[in-house]
Amino acid sequence: MTKKERGKEIAEKNNQIKRIDETHYTVNSQSRKKQHEVISTEFGWICSCEDHIIRKVQCKHNHAVEISLSIRKEVKTNVILEPIQSNHCIYCDSENFIKWNVRHNKNQDIQVYKCKDCLKYFSINLGFEKMIELIDKKNMGIMLM
Ligand SMILES: [Zn+2]
Ligand SMILES: [Zn+2]
Repeated sequence: MTKKERGKEIAEKNNQIKRIDETHYTVNSQSRKKQHEVISTEFGWICSCEDHIIRKVQCKHNHAVEISLSIRKEVKTNVILEPIQSNHCIYCDSENFIKWNVRHNKNQDIQVYKCKDCLKYFSINLGFEKMIELIDKKNMGIMLM
């Protein structure tokens, strides 16, 4: 297997890559119980593992981060938001509510409801970033914070 293929394997597993921030990730070592730091620099991704530091090659950890980021980008552009349905009021748990109106913002429409029991308004939508986070966790092994 090439390093790229190994990286893809890591990227597709769950919870192998952890995002510290946009330019800093940790990738679990596949052989030992430790983590490698992968950091974005102006020269590309650098990694704290021996492969990268001593042999100066693109290691599987760099590939893993790159691949999972590109998968994430694809998801971001492909996701179509479905309105999230709920069957009870978020304040009083009543099922006695009506659709009130729809609010618009940049990314989506938000359905607003009015509860007939507590008379409060509430909207139901997980929001764009939240959706991505859920998808990432399920399919891509990236853990966002
Ligand atoms: Zn590495
Ligand atoms: Zn209510």
